[in-house]
Amino acid sequence: MPELIFPLDSTKSFTDQQKVGHNRWHPDIPAAVTVKPGDEFRVHCREWFDGAIVNDDSADDIRDAPLDGVHVLSGPIAVEGAKPGDLLIVDILDLGPIPQEDSGPLAGQGWGYTGIFPTRNGGGFLTEQFPDAYKAIWDFSGQRCTSRHVPHVEFTGIVHPGLMGTAPSKDLLSTWNTREAALIATDPDRVPPLALPPLPKDAILGTLTGDAFDAAAAEAARTAPPRENGGNQDIKNLTKGSRIFYPVFVDGANLSVGDLHFSQGDGEITFCGAIEMGGFIDLRVEIIPDGMSTYGVSENAIFMPGTTDPQFSEWLAFSGTSVTLDGEQRYLDSHLAYQRACLHAIDYLTKFGYAPEQAYLLLGAAPIEGRLSGVVDIPNACATVYLPTAIFDFPVTPTAAGPVTIDPGIGAPHSSF
Ligand code: ZN
Repeated sequence: MPELIFPLDSTKSFTDQQKVGHNRWHPDIPAAVTVKPGDEFRVHCREWFDGAIVNDDSADDIRDAPLDGVHVLSGPIAVEGAKPGDLLIVDILDLGPIPQEDSGPLAGQGWGYTGIFPTRNGGGFLTEQFPDAYKAIWDFSGQRCTSRHVPHVEFTGIVHPGLMGTAPSKDLLSTWNTREAALIATDPDRVPPLALPPLPKDAILGTLTGDAFDAAAAEAARTAPPRENGGNQDIKNLTKGSRIFYPVFVDGANLSVGDLHFSQGDGEITFCGAIEMGGFIDLRVEIIPDGMSTYGVSENAIFMPGTTDPQFSEWLAFSGTSVTLDGEQRYLDSHLAYQRACLHAIDYLTKFGYAPEQAYLLLGAAPIEGRLSGVVDIPNACATVYLPTAIFDFPVTPTAAGPVTIDPGIGAPHSSF
């Protein structure tokens, strides 16, 4: 096992740990630990809400989830010799939930969760159709998972970090704050909001204290969006075997990681659409000096996806175009087209007996593929969503005999304001 450089104790909260991570981006957050190029090391990660979501049959915890405190990230990890303008190579050697048999301080939970977030607390890709909170608990057995809240499916997880990235420079942070504030100003009262401005409340900034903490907390960027530093990209294919090339903006690069997912569908559509979990990740780092200009990699990270995806040979795909549910034609709106493809798939799955929210949770959590199939055929963009048929324990493709009827079980816990 590589050296554990960022340990976490599952019985303690994020701020009571031996090393305290952070939940905002800021260049002044001191490195929690330093490694050398070529080092292999292990990092523990808390699930993104630091344990606020529990394994039960209620969605009240999703409805009331403390969004101001996310994402709890492990790091920053400084890499000796890394300088602004370099590329940081990060290899994901291994990752997973903490083994259930581990009885140590990071005892495994053996389960994860998917949430549909209510419009008034986060929202989601289909929040107009699903304004309330729902939850599904997923039980892990080795690489596979099942849910009492979404029965009749079982699949192999495509384990990945939802969030990993380098620290921004002062200039880059200022660019983020300026452009996101301008967007918010176009509709400041929107629910859910257009973007999340800096928020000192519930900010965790590693070992920063006093005036330095206050100054940084006032301008530190929230972790929700992906940006030039990588961040919350939620790319399901960043699994074991991935190699990522991150731009470096500060001395030491200051890499941070968290928000581990047991599995996720493309788009992470329910907002907390992955199967969220705490766990471990083993990394190796190297530096490409001046790599940002040499390779023209300054706008965001580039990566080589992992090689351990679950293998599926048969898919059932649904398409959508850029026409609203009310029949209004939009111009090449790929976002809308993907919404329509997902709604199409959800509607289809209800014909077998699932409630719509069960189907929505499944699309967020299972390793479905989402594609922009056509983006030039005016006026309709065409987006598609591919469901692997092998995850269902019943025949899911259309036949002349009609759909079989499944028992949807206890359903997904629901909670509204
Ligand atoms: Zn996540």
